[in-house]
Amino acid sequence: MASSLIDRPAGRSGLAAAPATLERWLTGPRFGPLPSRSVREPPPLLSFEFFPPKSEALETQLWTCIRRLEPLAPRFVSVTYGAGGSTQERTHATVLRIVRETSLVPAAHLTCVGASSAEIEAIARRYWEAGVRHIVALRGDPPPGTPYVPHREGCAYAADLVALLSKIADFDISVAAYPETHPEASSPGADLDNLKRKLDAGASRAITQYFFDTAVYLRFLDRCLAAGITAPIVPGIMPVSNFAQAVRFSALCGASVPGWLGELFEGTENDPETRRMVAAVVAAEQVRLLQANGVDEFHFYTLNRPDLTYAIAHILGVRPRVAADIG
Ligand SMILES: Cc1cc2nc3c(=O)[nH]c(=O)nc-3n(C[C@H](O)[C@H](O)[C@H](O)COP(=O)(O)OP(=O)(O)OC[C@H]3O[C@@H](n4cnc5c(N)ncnc54)[C@H](O)[C@@H]3O)c2cc1C
Repeated sequence: MASSLIDRPAGRSGLAAAPATLERWLTGPRFGPLPSRSVREPPPLLSFEFFPPKSEALETQLWTCIRRLEPLAPRFVSVTYGAGGSTQERTHATVLRIVRETSLVPAAHLTCVGASSAEIEAIARRYWEAGVRHIVALRGDPPPGTPYVPHREGCAYAADLVALLSKIADFDISVAAYPETHPEASSPGADLDNLKRKLDAGASRAITQYFFDTAVYLRFLDRCLAAGITAPIVPGIMPVSNFAQAVRFSALCGASVPGWLGELFEGTENDPETRRMVAAVVAAEQVRLLQANGVDEFHFYTLNRPDLTYAIAHILGVRPRVAADIG
């Protein structure tokens, strides 16, 4: 379903004096339009990521976000696990409240950092007993400023965690993937081998680190296929509403920030309204382009703010369901 590249006329056709726009139209590449989509077609599958709140005010913000997004009936919502396992109890409490009070299917993030296999097993069993069937299995990051050191009696890498979880119960397991290669990987090929190991160990899908250049993700899909990876590689979408913060985040996690993105946000530092509109357009263009390339699963990093995610889901063709449908 790639968007069609329409044949361009050969040669520059002697247009030296033509206006620049006309010359570009006649001599540059021409792309077909993004395909229009009927809302009667099945909507894409969405999932939403939240982080556990640190304070009462943030708890209210999170639950406003969850309630706003719930009618979009995502296939699951995931709750992150703070660096170094620092949010273990808050993650657990948030996941359990989702089970108790919503129609949503929760996925709990779980990391290897600072935990023995016995501790990980106890957490996983607690989730299973509470009815949680989906785990996002990660190595995790150590607290800022410290290098990653595997726990002596724990899992060194996410692949080991997937293997451990698979032995504990029949969890649905998601893992992380890096279209721009994980910053600590010895090479892109080694990182891809690692992704394959995680899937072979029992994970059923990968969710990608966010990216801004759609071509980077599409090339990554080609590399995954060439490496024999056929599990879904769900693109992680980060709607950017605070550009400066996105630049800081991206430097830490190895996502590149294209120059054009900075130029789009330039001058909006003190203009939140324009910034939000730019943010919506950037994310909408990204998901529409992915959709035009046949992508029909998306994972949104909501940052516990619903508005951009809701609007982009709408653009993707997702409509709220009434309570009776969600059941
Ligand atoms: C969708 C998503 C959700 C996330 N959620 C969280 C979260 O909730 N909490 C959190 O703390 N972090 C989270 N992270 C960040 C993640 O924990 C970090 O990126 C972390 O540095 C790597 O985790 P991983 O599961 O990808 O690790 P792994 O897959 O274990 O890989 C880590 C690194 O080790 C390399 N490697 C793997 N196996 C070997 C081996 N045998 N020998 C040598 N090198 C090896 C890999 O190539 C890679 O460079 C998330 C990331 C993503 C994409």
